[in-house]
This record gives sequence, C-alpha cells and structure tokens, in this order.
Amino acid sequence: MTKIIDLRSDTVTQPTAGMRAAMAAAPLGDDVFGDDPTVNALQERLAALLGFEAALFMPTGTQSNLCAILAHCGRGDEYIVGQLAHTYRYEGGGAAVLGSVQPQPLVQDAGGQMALADIAAAIKPDDCHFARTRLLCLENTWNGHSMPDSYLQQASALAREKGLAVHLDGARLFNAAIASRQNGESGLASAKRIASHFDSVSVCFSKGMGAPVGSVLCGSKELIARAHRIRKMAGGGMRQVGLLAAAANYALDHHVERLADDHALAQRLAQGLQGIAGLTVRSAQTNIVFVDVADGRGPDLLAHLKAHGVLATGLIGLRFVTHLDVDAAGIDHALACIRAFFAQPANTAIAPAARGAAVY
Ligand SMILES: *Cc1c(COP(=O)(O)O)cnc(C)c1O
Repeated sequence: MTKIIDLRSDTVTQPTAGMRAAMAAAPLGDDVFGDDPTVNALQERLAALLGFEAALFMPTGTQSNLCAILAHCGRGDEYIVGQLAHTYRYEGGGAAVLGSVQPQPLVQDAGGQMALADIAAAIKPDDCHFARTRLLCLENTWNGHSMPDSYLQQASALAREKGLAVHLDGARLFNAAIASRQNGESGLASAKRIASHFDSVSVCFSKGMGAPVGSVLCGSKELIARAHRIRKMAGGGMRQVGLLAAAANYALDHHVERLADDHALAQRLAQGLQGIAGLTVRSAQTNIVFVDVADGRGPDLLAHLKAHGVLATGLIGLRFVTHLDVDAAGIDHALACIRAFFAQPANTAIAPAARGAAVY
C-alpha cells in the first residue's frame, strides 16, 4: 500500500467520513436570498463563540481578509500590516488593487511582532499629505507561532487609542487557541479570549480544521453588512453553500480540541530531528516545523523525501506541517527518511525509488 505523507500544508486534508455525512445531510437554501439554514447556523454560532454580533461565510481566507480590509477602510485610507504578513504579501495586493487601500508594511521580529513603537510612529497625523491610517492587521498564528496575549492586548489598545480598528487574520486561530489555553480552559474559550482584542477576525476552516473549503469573517453587525456587499462585488455570493458550511460546523464540533494532536506530532518531528547533523530546527510551534538545511542540501532532501512518499515545501528553509491526515507512524517514516539522507555524504546521489513503488 502506498500512503503519501503530505506535510506540505494542513490545507491538504480530506474531509472525514463523518464530515462528508454531515455535508450530505445538511439542509440547504439559496444563501444569496439568506435562505440557507446551515450557513445561517454556522454564522450565528461562530459569531457567538468568538464574541461578535455577526459573521459571514466566505469561500477563502483571502476573500475574507479582503472584505474585512475594505469594510474597515475606504479609498485613500491605509492599513498597518507586517511586511511578511499574509494580508500584505500573499493576497495579490487585493486591498490596493480592488479597494484603493494602501498598505503600510512594518518589519516584524522572529515571532511575527511589529514593535509597538513602530506601529505608533507609522500612524499618520490628520494632514492632507498623508493617507488616513484606519486599521491595524495582525496575524495569529504567525509562522506557527501563537502570539502572546499581552502583545495582542497592547497592540490593539495602542491602535484603538489612536482611533484605528484592529483586524485579526486568524487563518489558524484555533491552533493559536489550543497552544495558548490558560488554566484548563477549552480551545473555544481560548479562541474567544484571543478574539476579544479585535474588531474583526477571519478564521479558515480549510486548514487544520479539516474542511474542504471555507472561511468565516466575524465582526459587528454594521461591519458585516459592509463586508456582505463587498463579498457580493468580489463574486463571493454563493447559493446552496450550506453544503460547505456543514463541514465547518462539523469541524467546530469535532476538530478543535484535536488540534493538540497535530501540535504533539510537530513536537515528535522536531525532537526526532534534534541531533541530526546537517539540519537545524529553527522553529517548532503549533503544527508547523521549520528546518534550516546546511550546505544547500534542502532541494536534494526534498527530492529524496518525495521519492520515499514524503512531501514538504521549501519556501523559507523547509516547512513540515502536521494535520488530521498524518499520524505518528507517518512522522516516524519521515524521520527515518531524513536520517537516511543525512547518513549519506553530500555528494552521493541517492537513487530515487521507482515512481509509483510501494513506499509506506
Ligand atoms: C491560508 C491563509 C490565509 C487564507 O488563504 P486562502 O487560501 O485564501 O484560504 C490567510 N492568512 C493566512 C495566515 C493563511 O495561512
């Protein structure tokens, strides 16, 4: 039997049998008419869980963040954002292209934080030379890091003091929530505590939560009404989309607390990598492990792993992501392959396994 250990991203998860059954059984309606009971239930449920008045189901996290930024900012306004943040770097410049909203990117430290002094200095005075600074965007988790509550609190307090709104790109909010639970609180309670610092929060269900598609934007009734109009303009008004909202609802029931298993697997991987000469674990938090590979051997390692049924990516160093469809045996297989690779001298080509061969 060939089983691919796909550690490229937590977006690769397949809906479970239980999730598919929930999708198949979901009552549906035309959501552009507001008639889909499953969508309405998800929106009301997540808004209440995270402490907001309203929520809106979105096809993607990118559209969700776009609608949030355009609902907070008008033409000629600007948002402050980390220069490596998804809402600046990885969303096609959508806020600028589609909303004439200018980003003000700032340097982040290794934990993804922009210095409070930098944020304060970037907020423009009310002067006709400047764009109007309207919004601060944060991201949590950032590169797998769960942001300290104290930072979220201080950054949002600073922004609000200056009249800015604060948006959270919480694509992996529930991973952050599980990693920063306080005094035995539930994952959902922890998520609500994180969300309490923000005026709007976008959450992805298509990553560690295991749904095939979907994100949700939460905020005030007024903000969500504006976002609703922008979503329609962006082509995100969908019809019997309760089929997908049912997967997200199912994930809220079954896939929040279990994110701790993914985090434990990431630690298993990171611990197994300790002491292998030729690589260094740069960061291993929540469900993401970043590894630096010496001597430019990263691409060869990726090819070696691929030949043995293990997939990873090499965007910034190498990245391994654990999720619903990986187990301890898969992680141990990946570790064995990595050890075998570094047991070979750097200049020895390792014959790739024949394509399609049974590997694991
Ligand atoms: C995945 C992700 C998004 C949204 O991505 P989509 O592929 O559009 O759903 C936004 N922000 C972060 C940090 C992400 O990881």
